[in-house]
Amino acid sequence: MTNQSIREAAAGLFPGGVNSPVRSYRSVGGDPVPIARGQGPFVFDAEENRYIDFVGGFGPAILGHAHPAVTAAISLAAAEGLAFGALGPREVALAESIREATGLERLRFLNSGTEATMTAIRIARAATGRDLIVKFDGCYHGHSDGLLVKAGSGVATLGMSDSAGVPQAVAGLTAVLPYNDPAALMRWFDARGAETAAVIVESIPANVGILAPDPEFLETLQSLPRAHGALLIADEIITGFRLRRGLSGVLPAADLVTLGKIIGGGLPVGAVGGRADLLGLLAPEGPVYQAGTFSANPAVMAAGLATLEALTPAAYQRLDQVARHLENGLQAAVKRAGAPASVVRFGSMLSLFFRPAPPRDYAEAREADTAAFARFHRAMRQRGILIPPSQFETWFVSLAHNEPEIDAAVRAAAEALREALPA
Ligand code: PMP
Repeated sequence: MTNQSIREAAAGLFPGGVNSPVRSYRSVGGDPVPIARGQGPFVFDAEENRYIDFVGGFGPAILGHAHPAVTAAISLAAAEGLAFGALGPREVALAESIREATGLERLRFLNSGTEATMTAIRIARAATGRDLIVKFDGCYHGHSDGLLVKAGSGVATLGMSDSAGVPQAVAGLTAVLPYNDPAALMRWFDARGAETAAVIVESIPANVGILAPDPEFLETLQSLPRAHGALLIADEIITGFRLRRGLSGVLPAADLVTLGKIIGGGLPVGAVGGRADLLGLLAPEGPVYQAGTFSANPAVMAAGLATLEALTPAAYQRLDQVARHLENGLQAAVKRAGAPASVVRFGSMLSLFFRPAPPRDYAEAREADTAAFARFHRAMRQRGILIPPSQFETWFVSLAHNEPEIDAAVRAAAEALREALPA
């Protein structure tokens, strides 16, 4: 099949021609690149054109694509049978490895990040006997009804603020506050603290590009909900095992933590973890129901185990070094081009905003010049560099990226920036 024949068939088969909205290239224009395979830092389209990949599967591909240890672990698991609907050894091994790295007392594995945050909220409501949830404008926590209010990721990319099909009665239980605004959080808790079950937040918001958390905001997040008997849910679905082995360390006082992406080594996964008493509320130990035919699937657990094994402290040093090289190169290119753009990086996560200063919240992120980003994206892909097809997604560097790939990306960016700027 050619790239075009795949796109044409997909347009009839799938809404928007894709199975997840951001993949459609709707905000950057042009034809989405169908990816047939990947190897290390590269992906290849159906016509064997090679791209240096900074999408990283939107987060999981921290070892690069088709890492031999991961593919071998998946093959072995598959050869031993995939769907038993029973407890098995691999989930115990992966959970022990996660517990050792994160300090989370207990865990439950699920099939996606969406399921993880949905379950964390159900636990928080059961634990507190309260209904209201607080989230932050532009944070994305998956597509469960109550969390699709002013969300980031594809919702932001498509310029939607909410989703049709979510009853007002459900959306009305979610309060949305501006990120990095401790005063807004204080006002909320003064007024509605006694009705609030939980505050959910991305430890480092990365679904409107990256927003750097202010220390004062982080302090308020970790003290105020608790003072009102509400829980803090840290969404580490992107940041868990991305910045270092374990949690990001940004919100050490969180009561519940959600994980996903990297811990599944490229296969579908989610996990909710935290205090033993809170996890004990889940069925069959407690009254909060949650279940899954595919939960803790052996192939997923095997991929996660192989991935975590490769993520040594030295691996994170290397990731940081390579990502810093990219950051420095992009900063220099921005400066040389005189582009009104800014670069934000935490470890191996990076955003290039078409806005002179990095945004502090979603309102500021929205000021970015998305038309310039679209031109930049196109110019990059013409030069064989694939970055996420939205101003509001985050680039990921993997352990498979080396200096030559970074240098090539920086050279391409220097040219692409000039093409992106309005003439
Ligand atoms: N939380 C965060 C912070 C995410 O970035 C995402 C997905 N990008 C999710 C939750 C939802 O995870 P999933 O797509 O696996 O349902």
